[in-house]
Amino acid sequence: MSAPGTIFRPDLLAGKVALVTGGGTGIGLGIASCLVAAGATVAIASRKPEHLKVAAEELRAGGGKVSTVETNVREPEAVARMVERVAQEHGRLDILVNNAAGNFYAPSATLTPNAWRAVVETDLYGTFYCCQAAHPVMKAQGGGRIVSISMTLHYRGWPLMAHATAAKAGVDALTRTLAVEWAPDRITVNAVAPGPIPTEGVKKAFTPPGAAAASVPAMDDYAARSIPMGRWGAPEDIGHMVTYLASPAGDWITGAIFVVDGGSWLTPCS
Ligand code: NAP
Repeated sequence: MSAPGTIFRPDLLAGKVALVTGGGTGIGLGIASCLVAAGATVAIASRKPEHLKVAAEELRAGGGKVSTVETNVREPEAVARMVERVAQEHGRLDILVNNAAGNFYAPSATLTPNAWRAVVETDLYGTFYCCQAAHPVMKAQGGGRIVSISMTLHYRGWPLMAHATAAKAGVDALTRTLAVEWAPDRITVNAVAPGPIPTEGVKKAFTPPGAAAASVPAMDDYAARSIPMGRWGAPEDIGHMVTYLASPAGDWITGAIFVVDGGSWLTPCS
């Protein structure tokens, strides 16, 4: 991971408590790192303690106030316990980032019900369970910020990704609906749609079994040719947008979906 985001004031989110699902790896860790750099206390949550432990050590090494919670966002009871624990441990919950997700290429004709369920339940149901669990805490404290991590692939047809594109289209719809429903509770609900970011999770999910991982020069060459801004995204590119939405600059922004992708989805080949 590159150096934590320091482009915002270091006390921008002082006193705020954030919960980032999937915060132990990839984009989620980049988001957690940016929120910590802006002064927030951050809880990172996911299934695997080994992910959380390494990430928390990295975030704390930079001086961050960080806690960890093991959870599975597919299970509503586990999600409720996660939110309860964060609110108890830190006294409040101001910012929820729904980042946990699963994905892999699979032909729709042979996609098994289990594989379909695994992705839709993690990406869409998990996002809803987290929003629903956070709502009463945020409402009781007079407001909050919810940011869900979506994608851009469902803006067009994207073969082999029926499960993930359907789930993220649902996340976008949920974002707009909850934004309207929860505006009276002073809770803003937005989404960020990242372009291609070569996280370890993505590389693993999209490398066919037995194939060698793509070399970095070959990948950089591809990015230079096919992404208008000429480079892959970094987790912090997404973290900066989440920080902006969580800050006072986001006070009047709700129901919006921000594409952060270096212009990728507008081109025919990326
Ligand atoms: P990643 O590193 O694989 O991140 C997924 C995270 O979700 C992991 O930390 C994983 O941790 C957690 N997770 C998975 N299933 C979970 C579950 N059932 N309960 C709780 N946590 C769970 O992948 P990434 O590339 O950073 O992706 C992060 C987000 O960005 C996702 O929403 C993805 O759809 C979105 N996105 C990524 C890209 C890209 O190019 N990278 C592009 C567009 C959108 P555990 O294994 O410990 O549970």
